[in-house]
Amino acid sequence: MAATIAVLKERLAGETRVAITPETAKKYADLGLTVLVEAGLGDGSSIPDADYAAAGAKVVKTAAEALKAADILLKVRGPSPQESAALKKGAIVVASLDAYNNGPALAALAKQGASAFAMEFVPRITRAQVMDVLSSQANLAGYRAVIEASQAYGKALPMMMTAAGTIAAAKAFIMGVGVAGLQAIATARRLGAVVTATDVRPATKEQVESLGAKFTAVEDEEFKNAQTAGGYAKEMSKEYQAKQAALVSEHIKKQDIVITTALIPGRKAPILVNAAQVASMKPGSVIVDLAVEQGGNVEGSRVGEVVVTKNGVSIVGYANLPGRIAADASNLYARNLFAFVGLLLKDGAIAPDLEDEILKAALVTHGGAVVHDGVKGAGAAAKPAPKAAAKPAAAKPAAAKPAPKTPVKPAAKPAAKAVAKAVAKPAVKTPAKPAATKATVAKPAPKAKPAAQTATKTPPKKK
Ligand code: NAD
Repeated sequence: MAATIAVLKERLAGETRVAITPETAKKYADLGLTVLVEAGLGDGSSIPDADYAAAGAKVVKTAAEALKAADILLKVRGPSPQESAALKKGAIVVASLDAYNNGPALAALAKQGASAFAMEFVPRITRAQVMDVLSSQANLAGYRAVIEASQAYGKALPMMMTAAGTIAAAKAFIMGVGVAGLQAIATARRLGAVVTATDVRPATKEQVESLGAKFTAVEDEEFKNAQTAGGYAKEMSKEYQAKQAALVSEHIKKQDIVITTALIPGRKAPILVNAAQVASMKPGSVIVDLAVEQGGNVEGSRVGEVVVTKNGVSIVGYANLPGRIAADASNLYARNLFAFVGLLLKDGAIAPDLEDEILKAALVTHGGAVVHDGVKGAGAAAKPAPKAAAKPAAAKPAAAKPAPKTPVKPAAKPAAKAVAKAVAKPAVKTPAKPAATKATVAKPAPKAKPAAQTATKTPPKKK
């Protein structure tokens, strides 16, 4: 019997993206799979149910209906414990599980005997580029961050020479030059800003310069070795951080727009801009903190809010920036998932080879337990996975193999070219639905805020 792929509506507030599009629904159907989508699935990404139906999917009224039939469940965010409990024993789940931070959800998946794959753990190897949700979404987030900044900034970005005089170009400073940062540099440059950027990884200097921006960082011995074998940033020493902070302090007060994107996998985001630095900026300047959901790079940023400081600096802390360009984000995410699901199938039937290095790296729960070394603690802390192993996940021989041990971080060498490629092909043609432009509701100042903060605005609600 054909395997069934089910896709549920996302229930996390503000999650507008979807894990399947009509394009990928058709591709699954062409492979002989039965595709079930919950009614209203694509509302946030402007995809009507009829388009899914036309692509060969069956639109079902309730999540329960989809869950009970699912051999493979696709989601953007991981399923809630309630959703997991409604899965068939041993179903496969593919989603961005945010596995480092979701102990209870992992425990629920393990309890159900699900084989859950965390898309954020797909290694950054060449073969997996097409499945790299971190890159596809970060690329759009970097683009969107500049759009949000320009919207919150009361001036133009490019230099303009007019009969009434010259408008100076905005100065934009991008902190953290991974995938999102590179796209932010490229977008800000396209809009005419004068762009500088910084990162702790020395490899980024050349990338920044190749995009026509200027690199600004303390380039000492520690900096020269600040990259892991996997291409990620290392946590820097207190001494380096102090030197870098001094440099940033001088630089930042001259900036109109600052976009922070710095992350260290599995850890709280480093603070790159402190309250004093924020207070040194000019009124009307804008900071966008892309790391706000991981603890924030900017002192005073708040998830889902625009904080306006006493000195008139707006700190934009919107969560889920890819969700603010949902149609494109869904298209890319769904294609990433389609490529990944291909590894789970053989001749249209579910037959994952758990020795495949991509599946191995992404497998988080299997056979009734949390099996990923990097998150075992998280699952156990929340709710221990049952000791008596549940049934093997997929009902195929390969899935019955013992759960593999996998590294926490992707071990692949970074492919700078791949990143540059992603940046070179920006989504410039399809404008996202405009995020509503005015933050209308002023919230009372939060209690535990830095001195510079005075008011917060809620972000506009998206439909
Ligand atoms: P990320 O989201 O983990 O971090 C964003 C950036 O923040 C990184 O460039 C990091 O160096 C930087 N950062 C961390 N701490 C900082 C600090 N204190 N100050 C300034 N910057 C700081 O990064 P990412 O976009 O996921 O990229 C991580 C690596 O993976 C990069 O080497 C990238 O080239 C590589 N990559 C490889 C592939 C591939 O091979 N297919 C695809 C995408 C990314």
